[in-house]
Amino acid sequence: MINIVLFGKPGAGKGTQAEFLKEKYNLTHLSTGDIFRYNIKNETQLGMLAKTYMDKGDLVPDEVTIQMLQSEVDKNPHSAGFLFDGFPRTLAQAAALDKFLESKNQKITATVALEADDEILVKRLLERGKTSGRPDDQDEGKIRNRYQEYNEKTAPLMDYYKAQQKFHAVDGIGEIQEVTERLSNVIDNL
Ligand code: AMP
Repeated sequence: MINIVLFGKPGAGKGTQAEFLKEKYNLTHLSTGDIFRYNIKNETQLGMLAKTYMDKGDLVPDEVTIQMLQSEVDKNPHSAGFLFDGFPRTLAQAAALDKFLESKNQKITATVALEADDEILVKRLLERGKTSGRPDDQDEGKIRNRYQEYNEKTAPLMDYYKAQQKFHAVDGIGEIQEVTERLSNVIDNL
């Protein structure tokens, strides 16, 4: 069983790459952003709450996010492994994930980061916002706030996973297929 955390700034291509990796390695893809957006669309209580944070580009509080993620994992008891996309995003989430997996005799196998320059990513997100309909992709101020959240709260996770010798990084810029190959090289050598 392999459990991979796909790591990277907003717009780095995590969702796009996850679509290929989940097929190739037979993994259950869990994107917390997608799950929140599904809840918003269906106007659930969780969705209403998450929306107030997401629309500003702020992170949704840990308790809510952790609980949601755990229940999604529990919905897939026969999974051959998980591909976590957009989770964990804080140290508290990373610690909760380790503890949760440990209680199931599982662990994170590796974290793979997609690296890219902020300015390229801001342009990419604004472009995506023209068709994605996502309010958080359509306003440069909100996008910059998401990077600030990333730098303050998510970037420290790199050291967390490095300390466990589970951190790997690949260049996220290039053709989609090229980037998939770089990620596959890391995963195949775990
Ligand atoms: P994403 O689709 O991964 O870019 O996530 C979109 C938004 O959903 C983020 O800007 C946050 O508001 C929220 N979100 C997604 N994942 C998390 C998480 N692990 N912790 C807190 N908020 C999250």
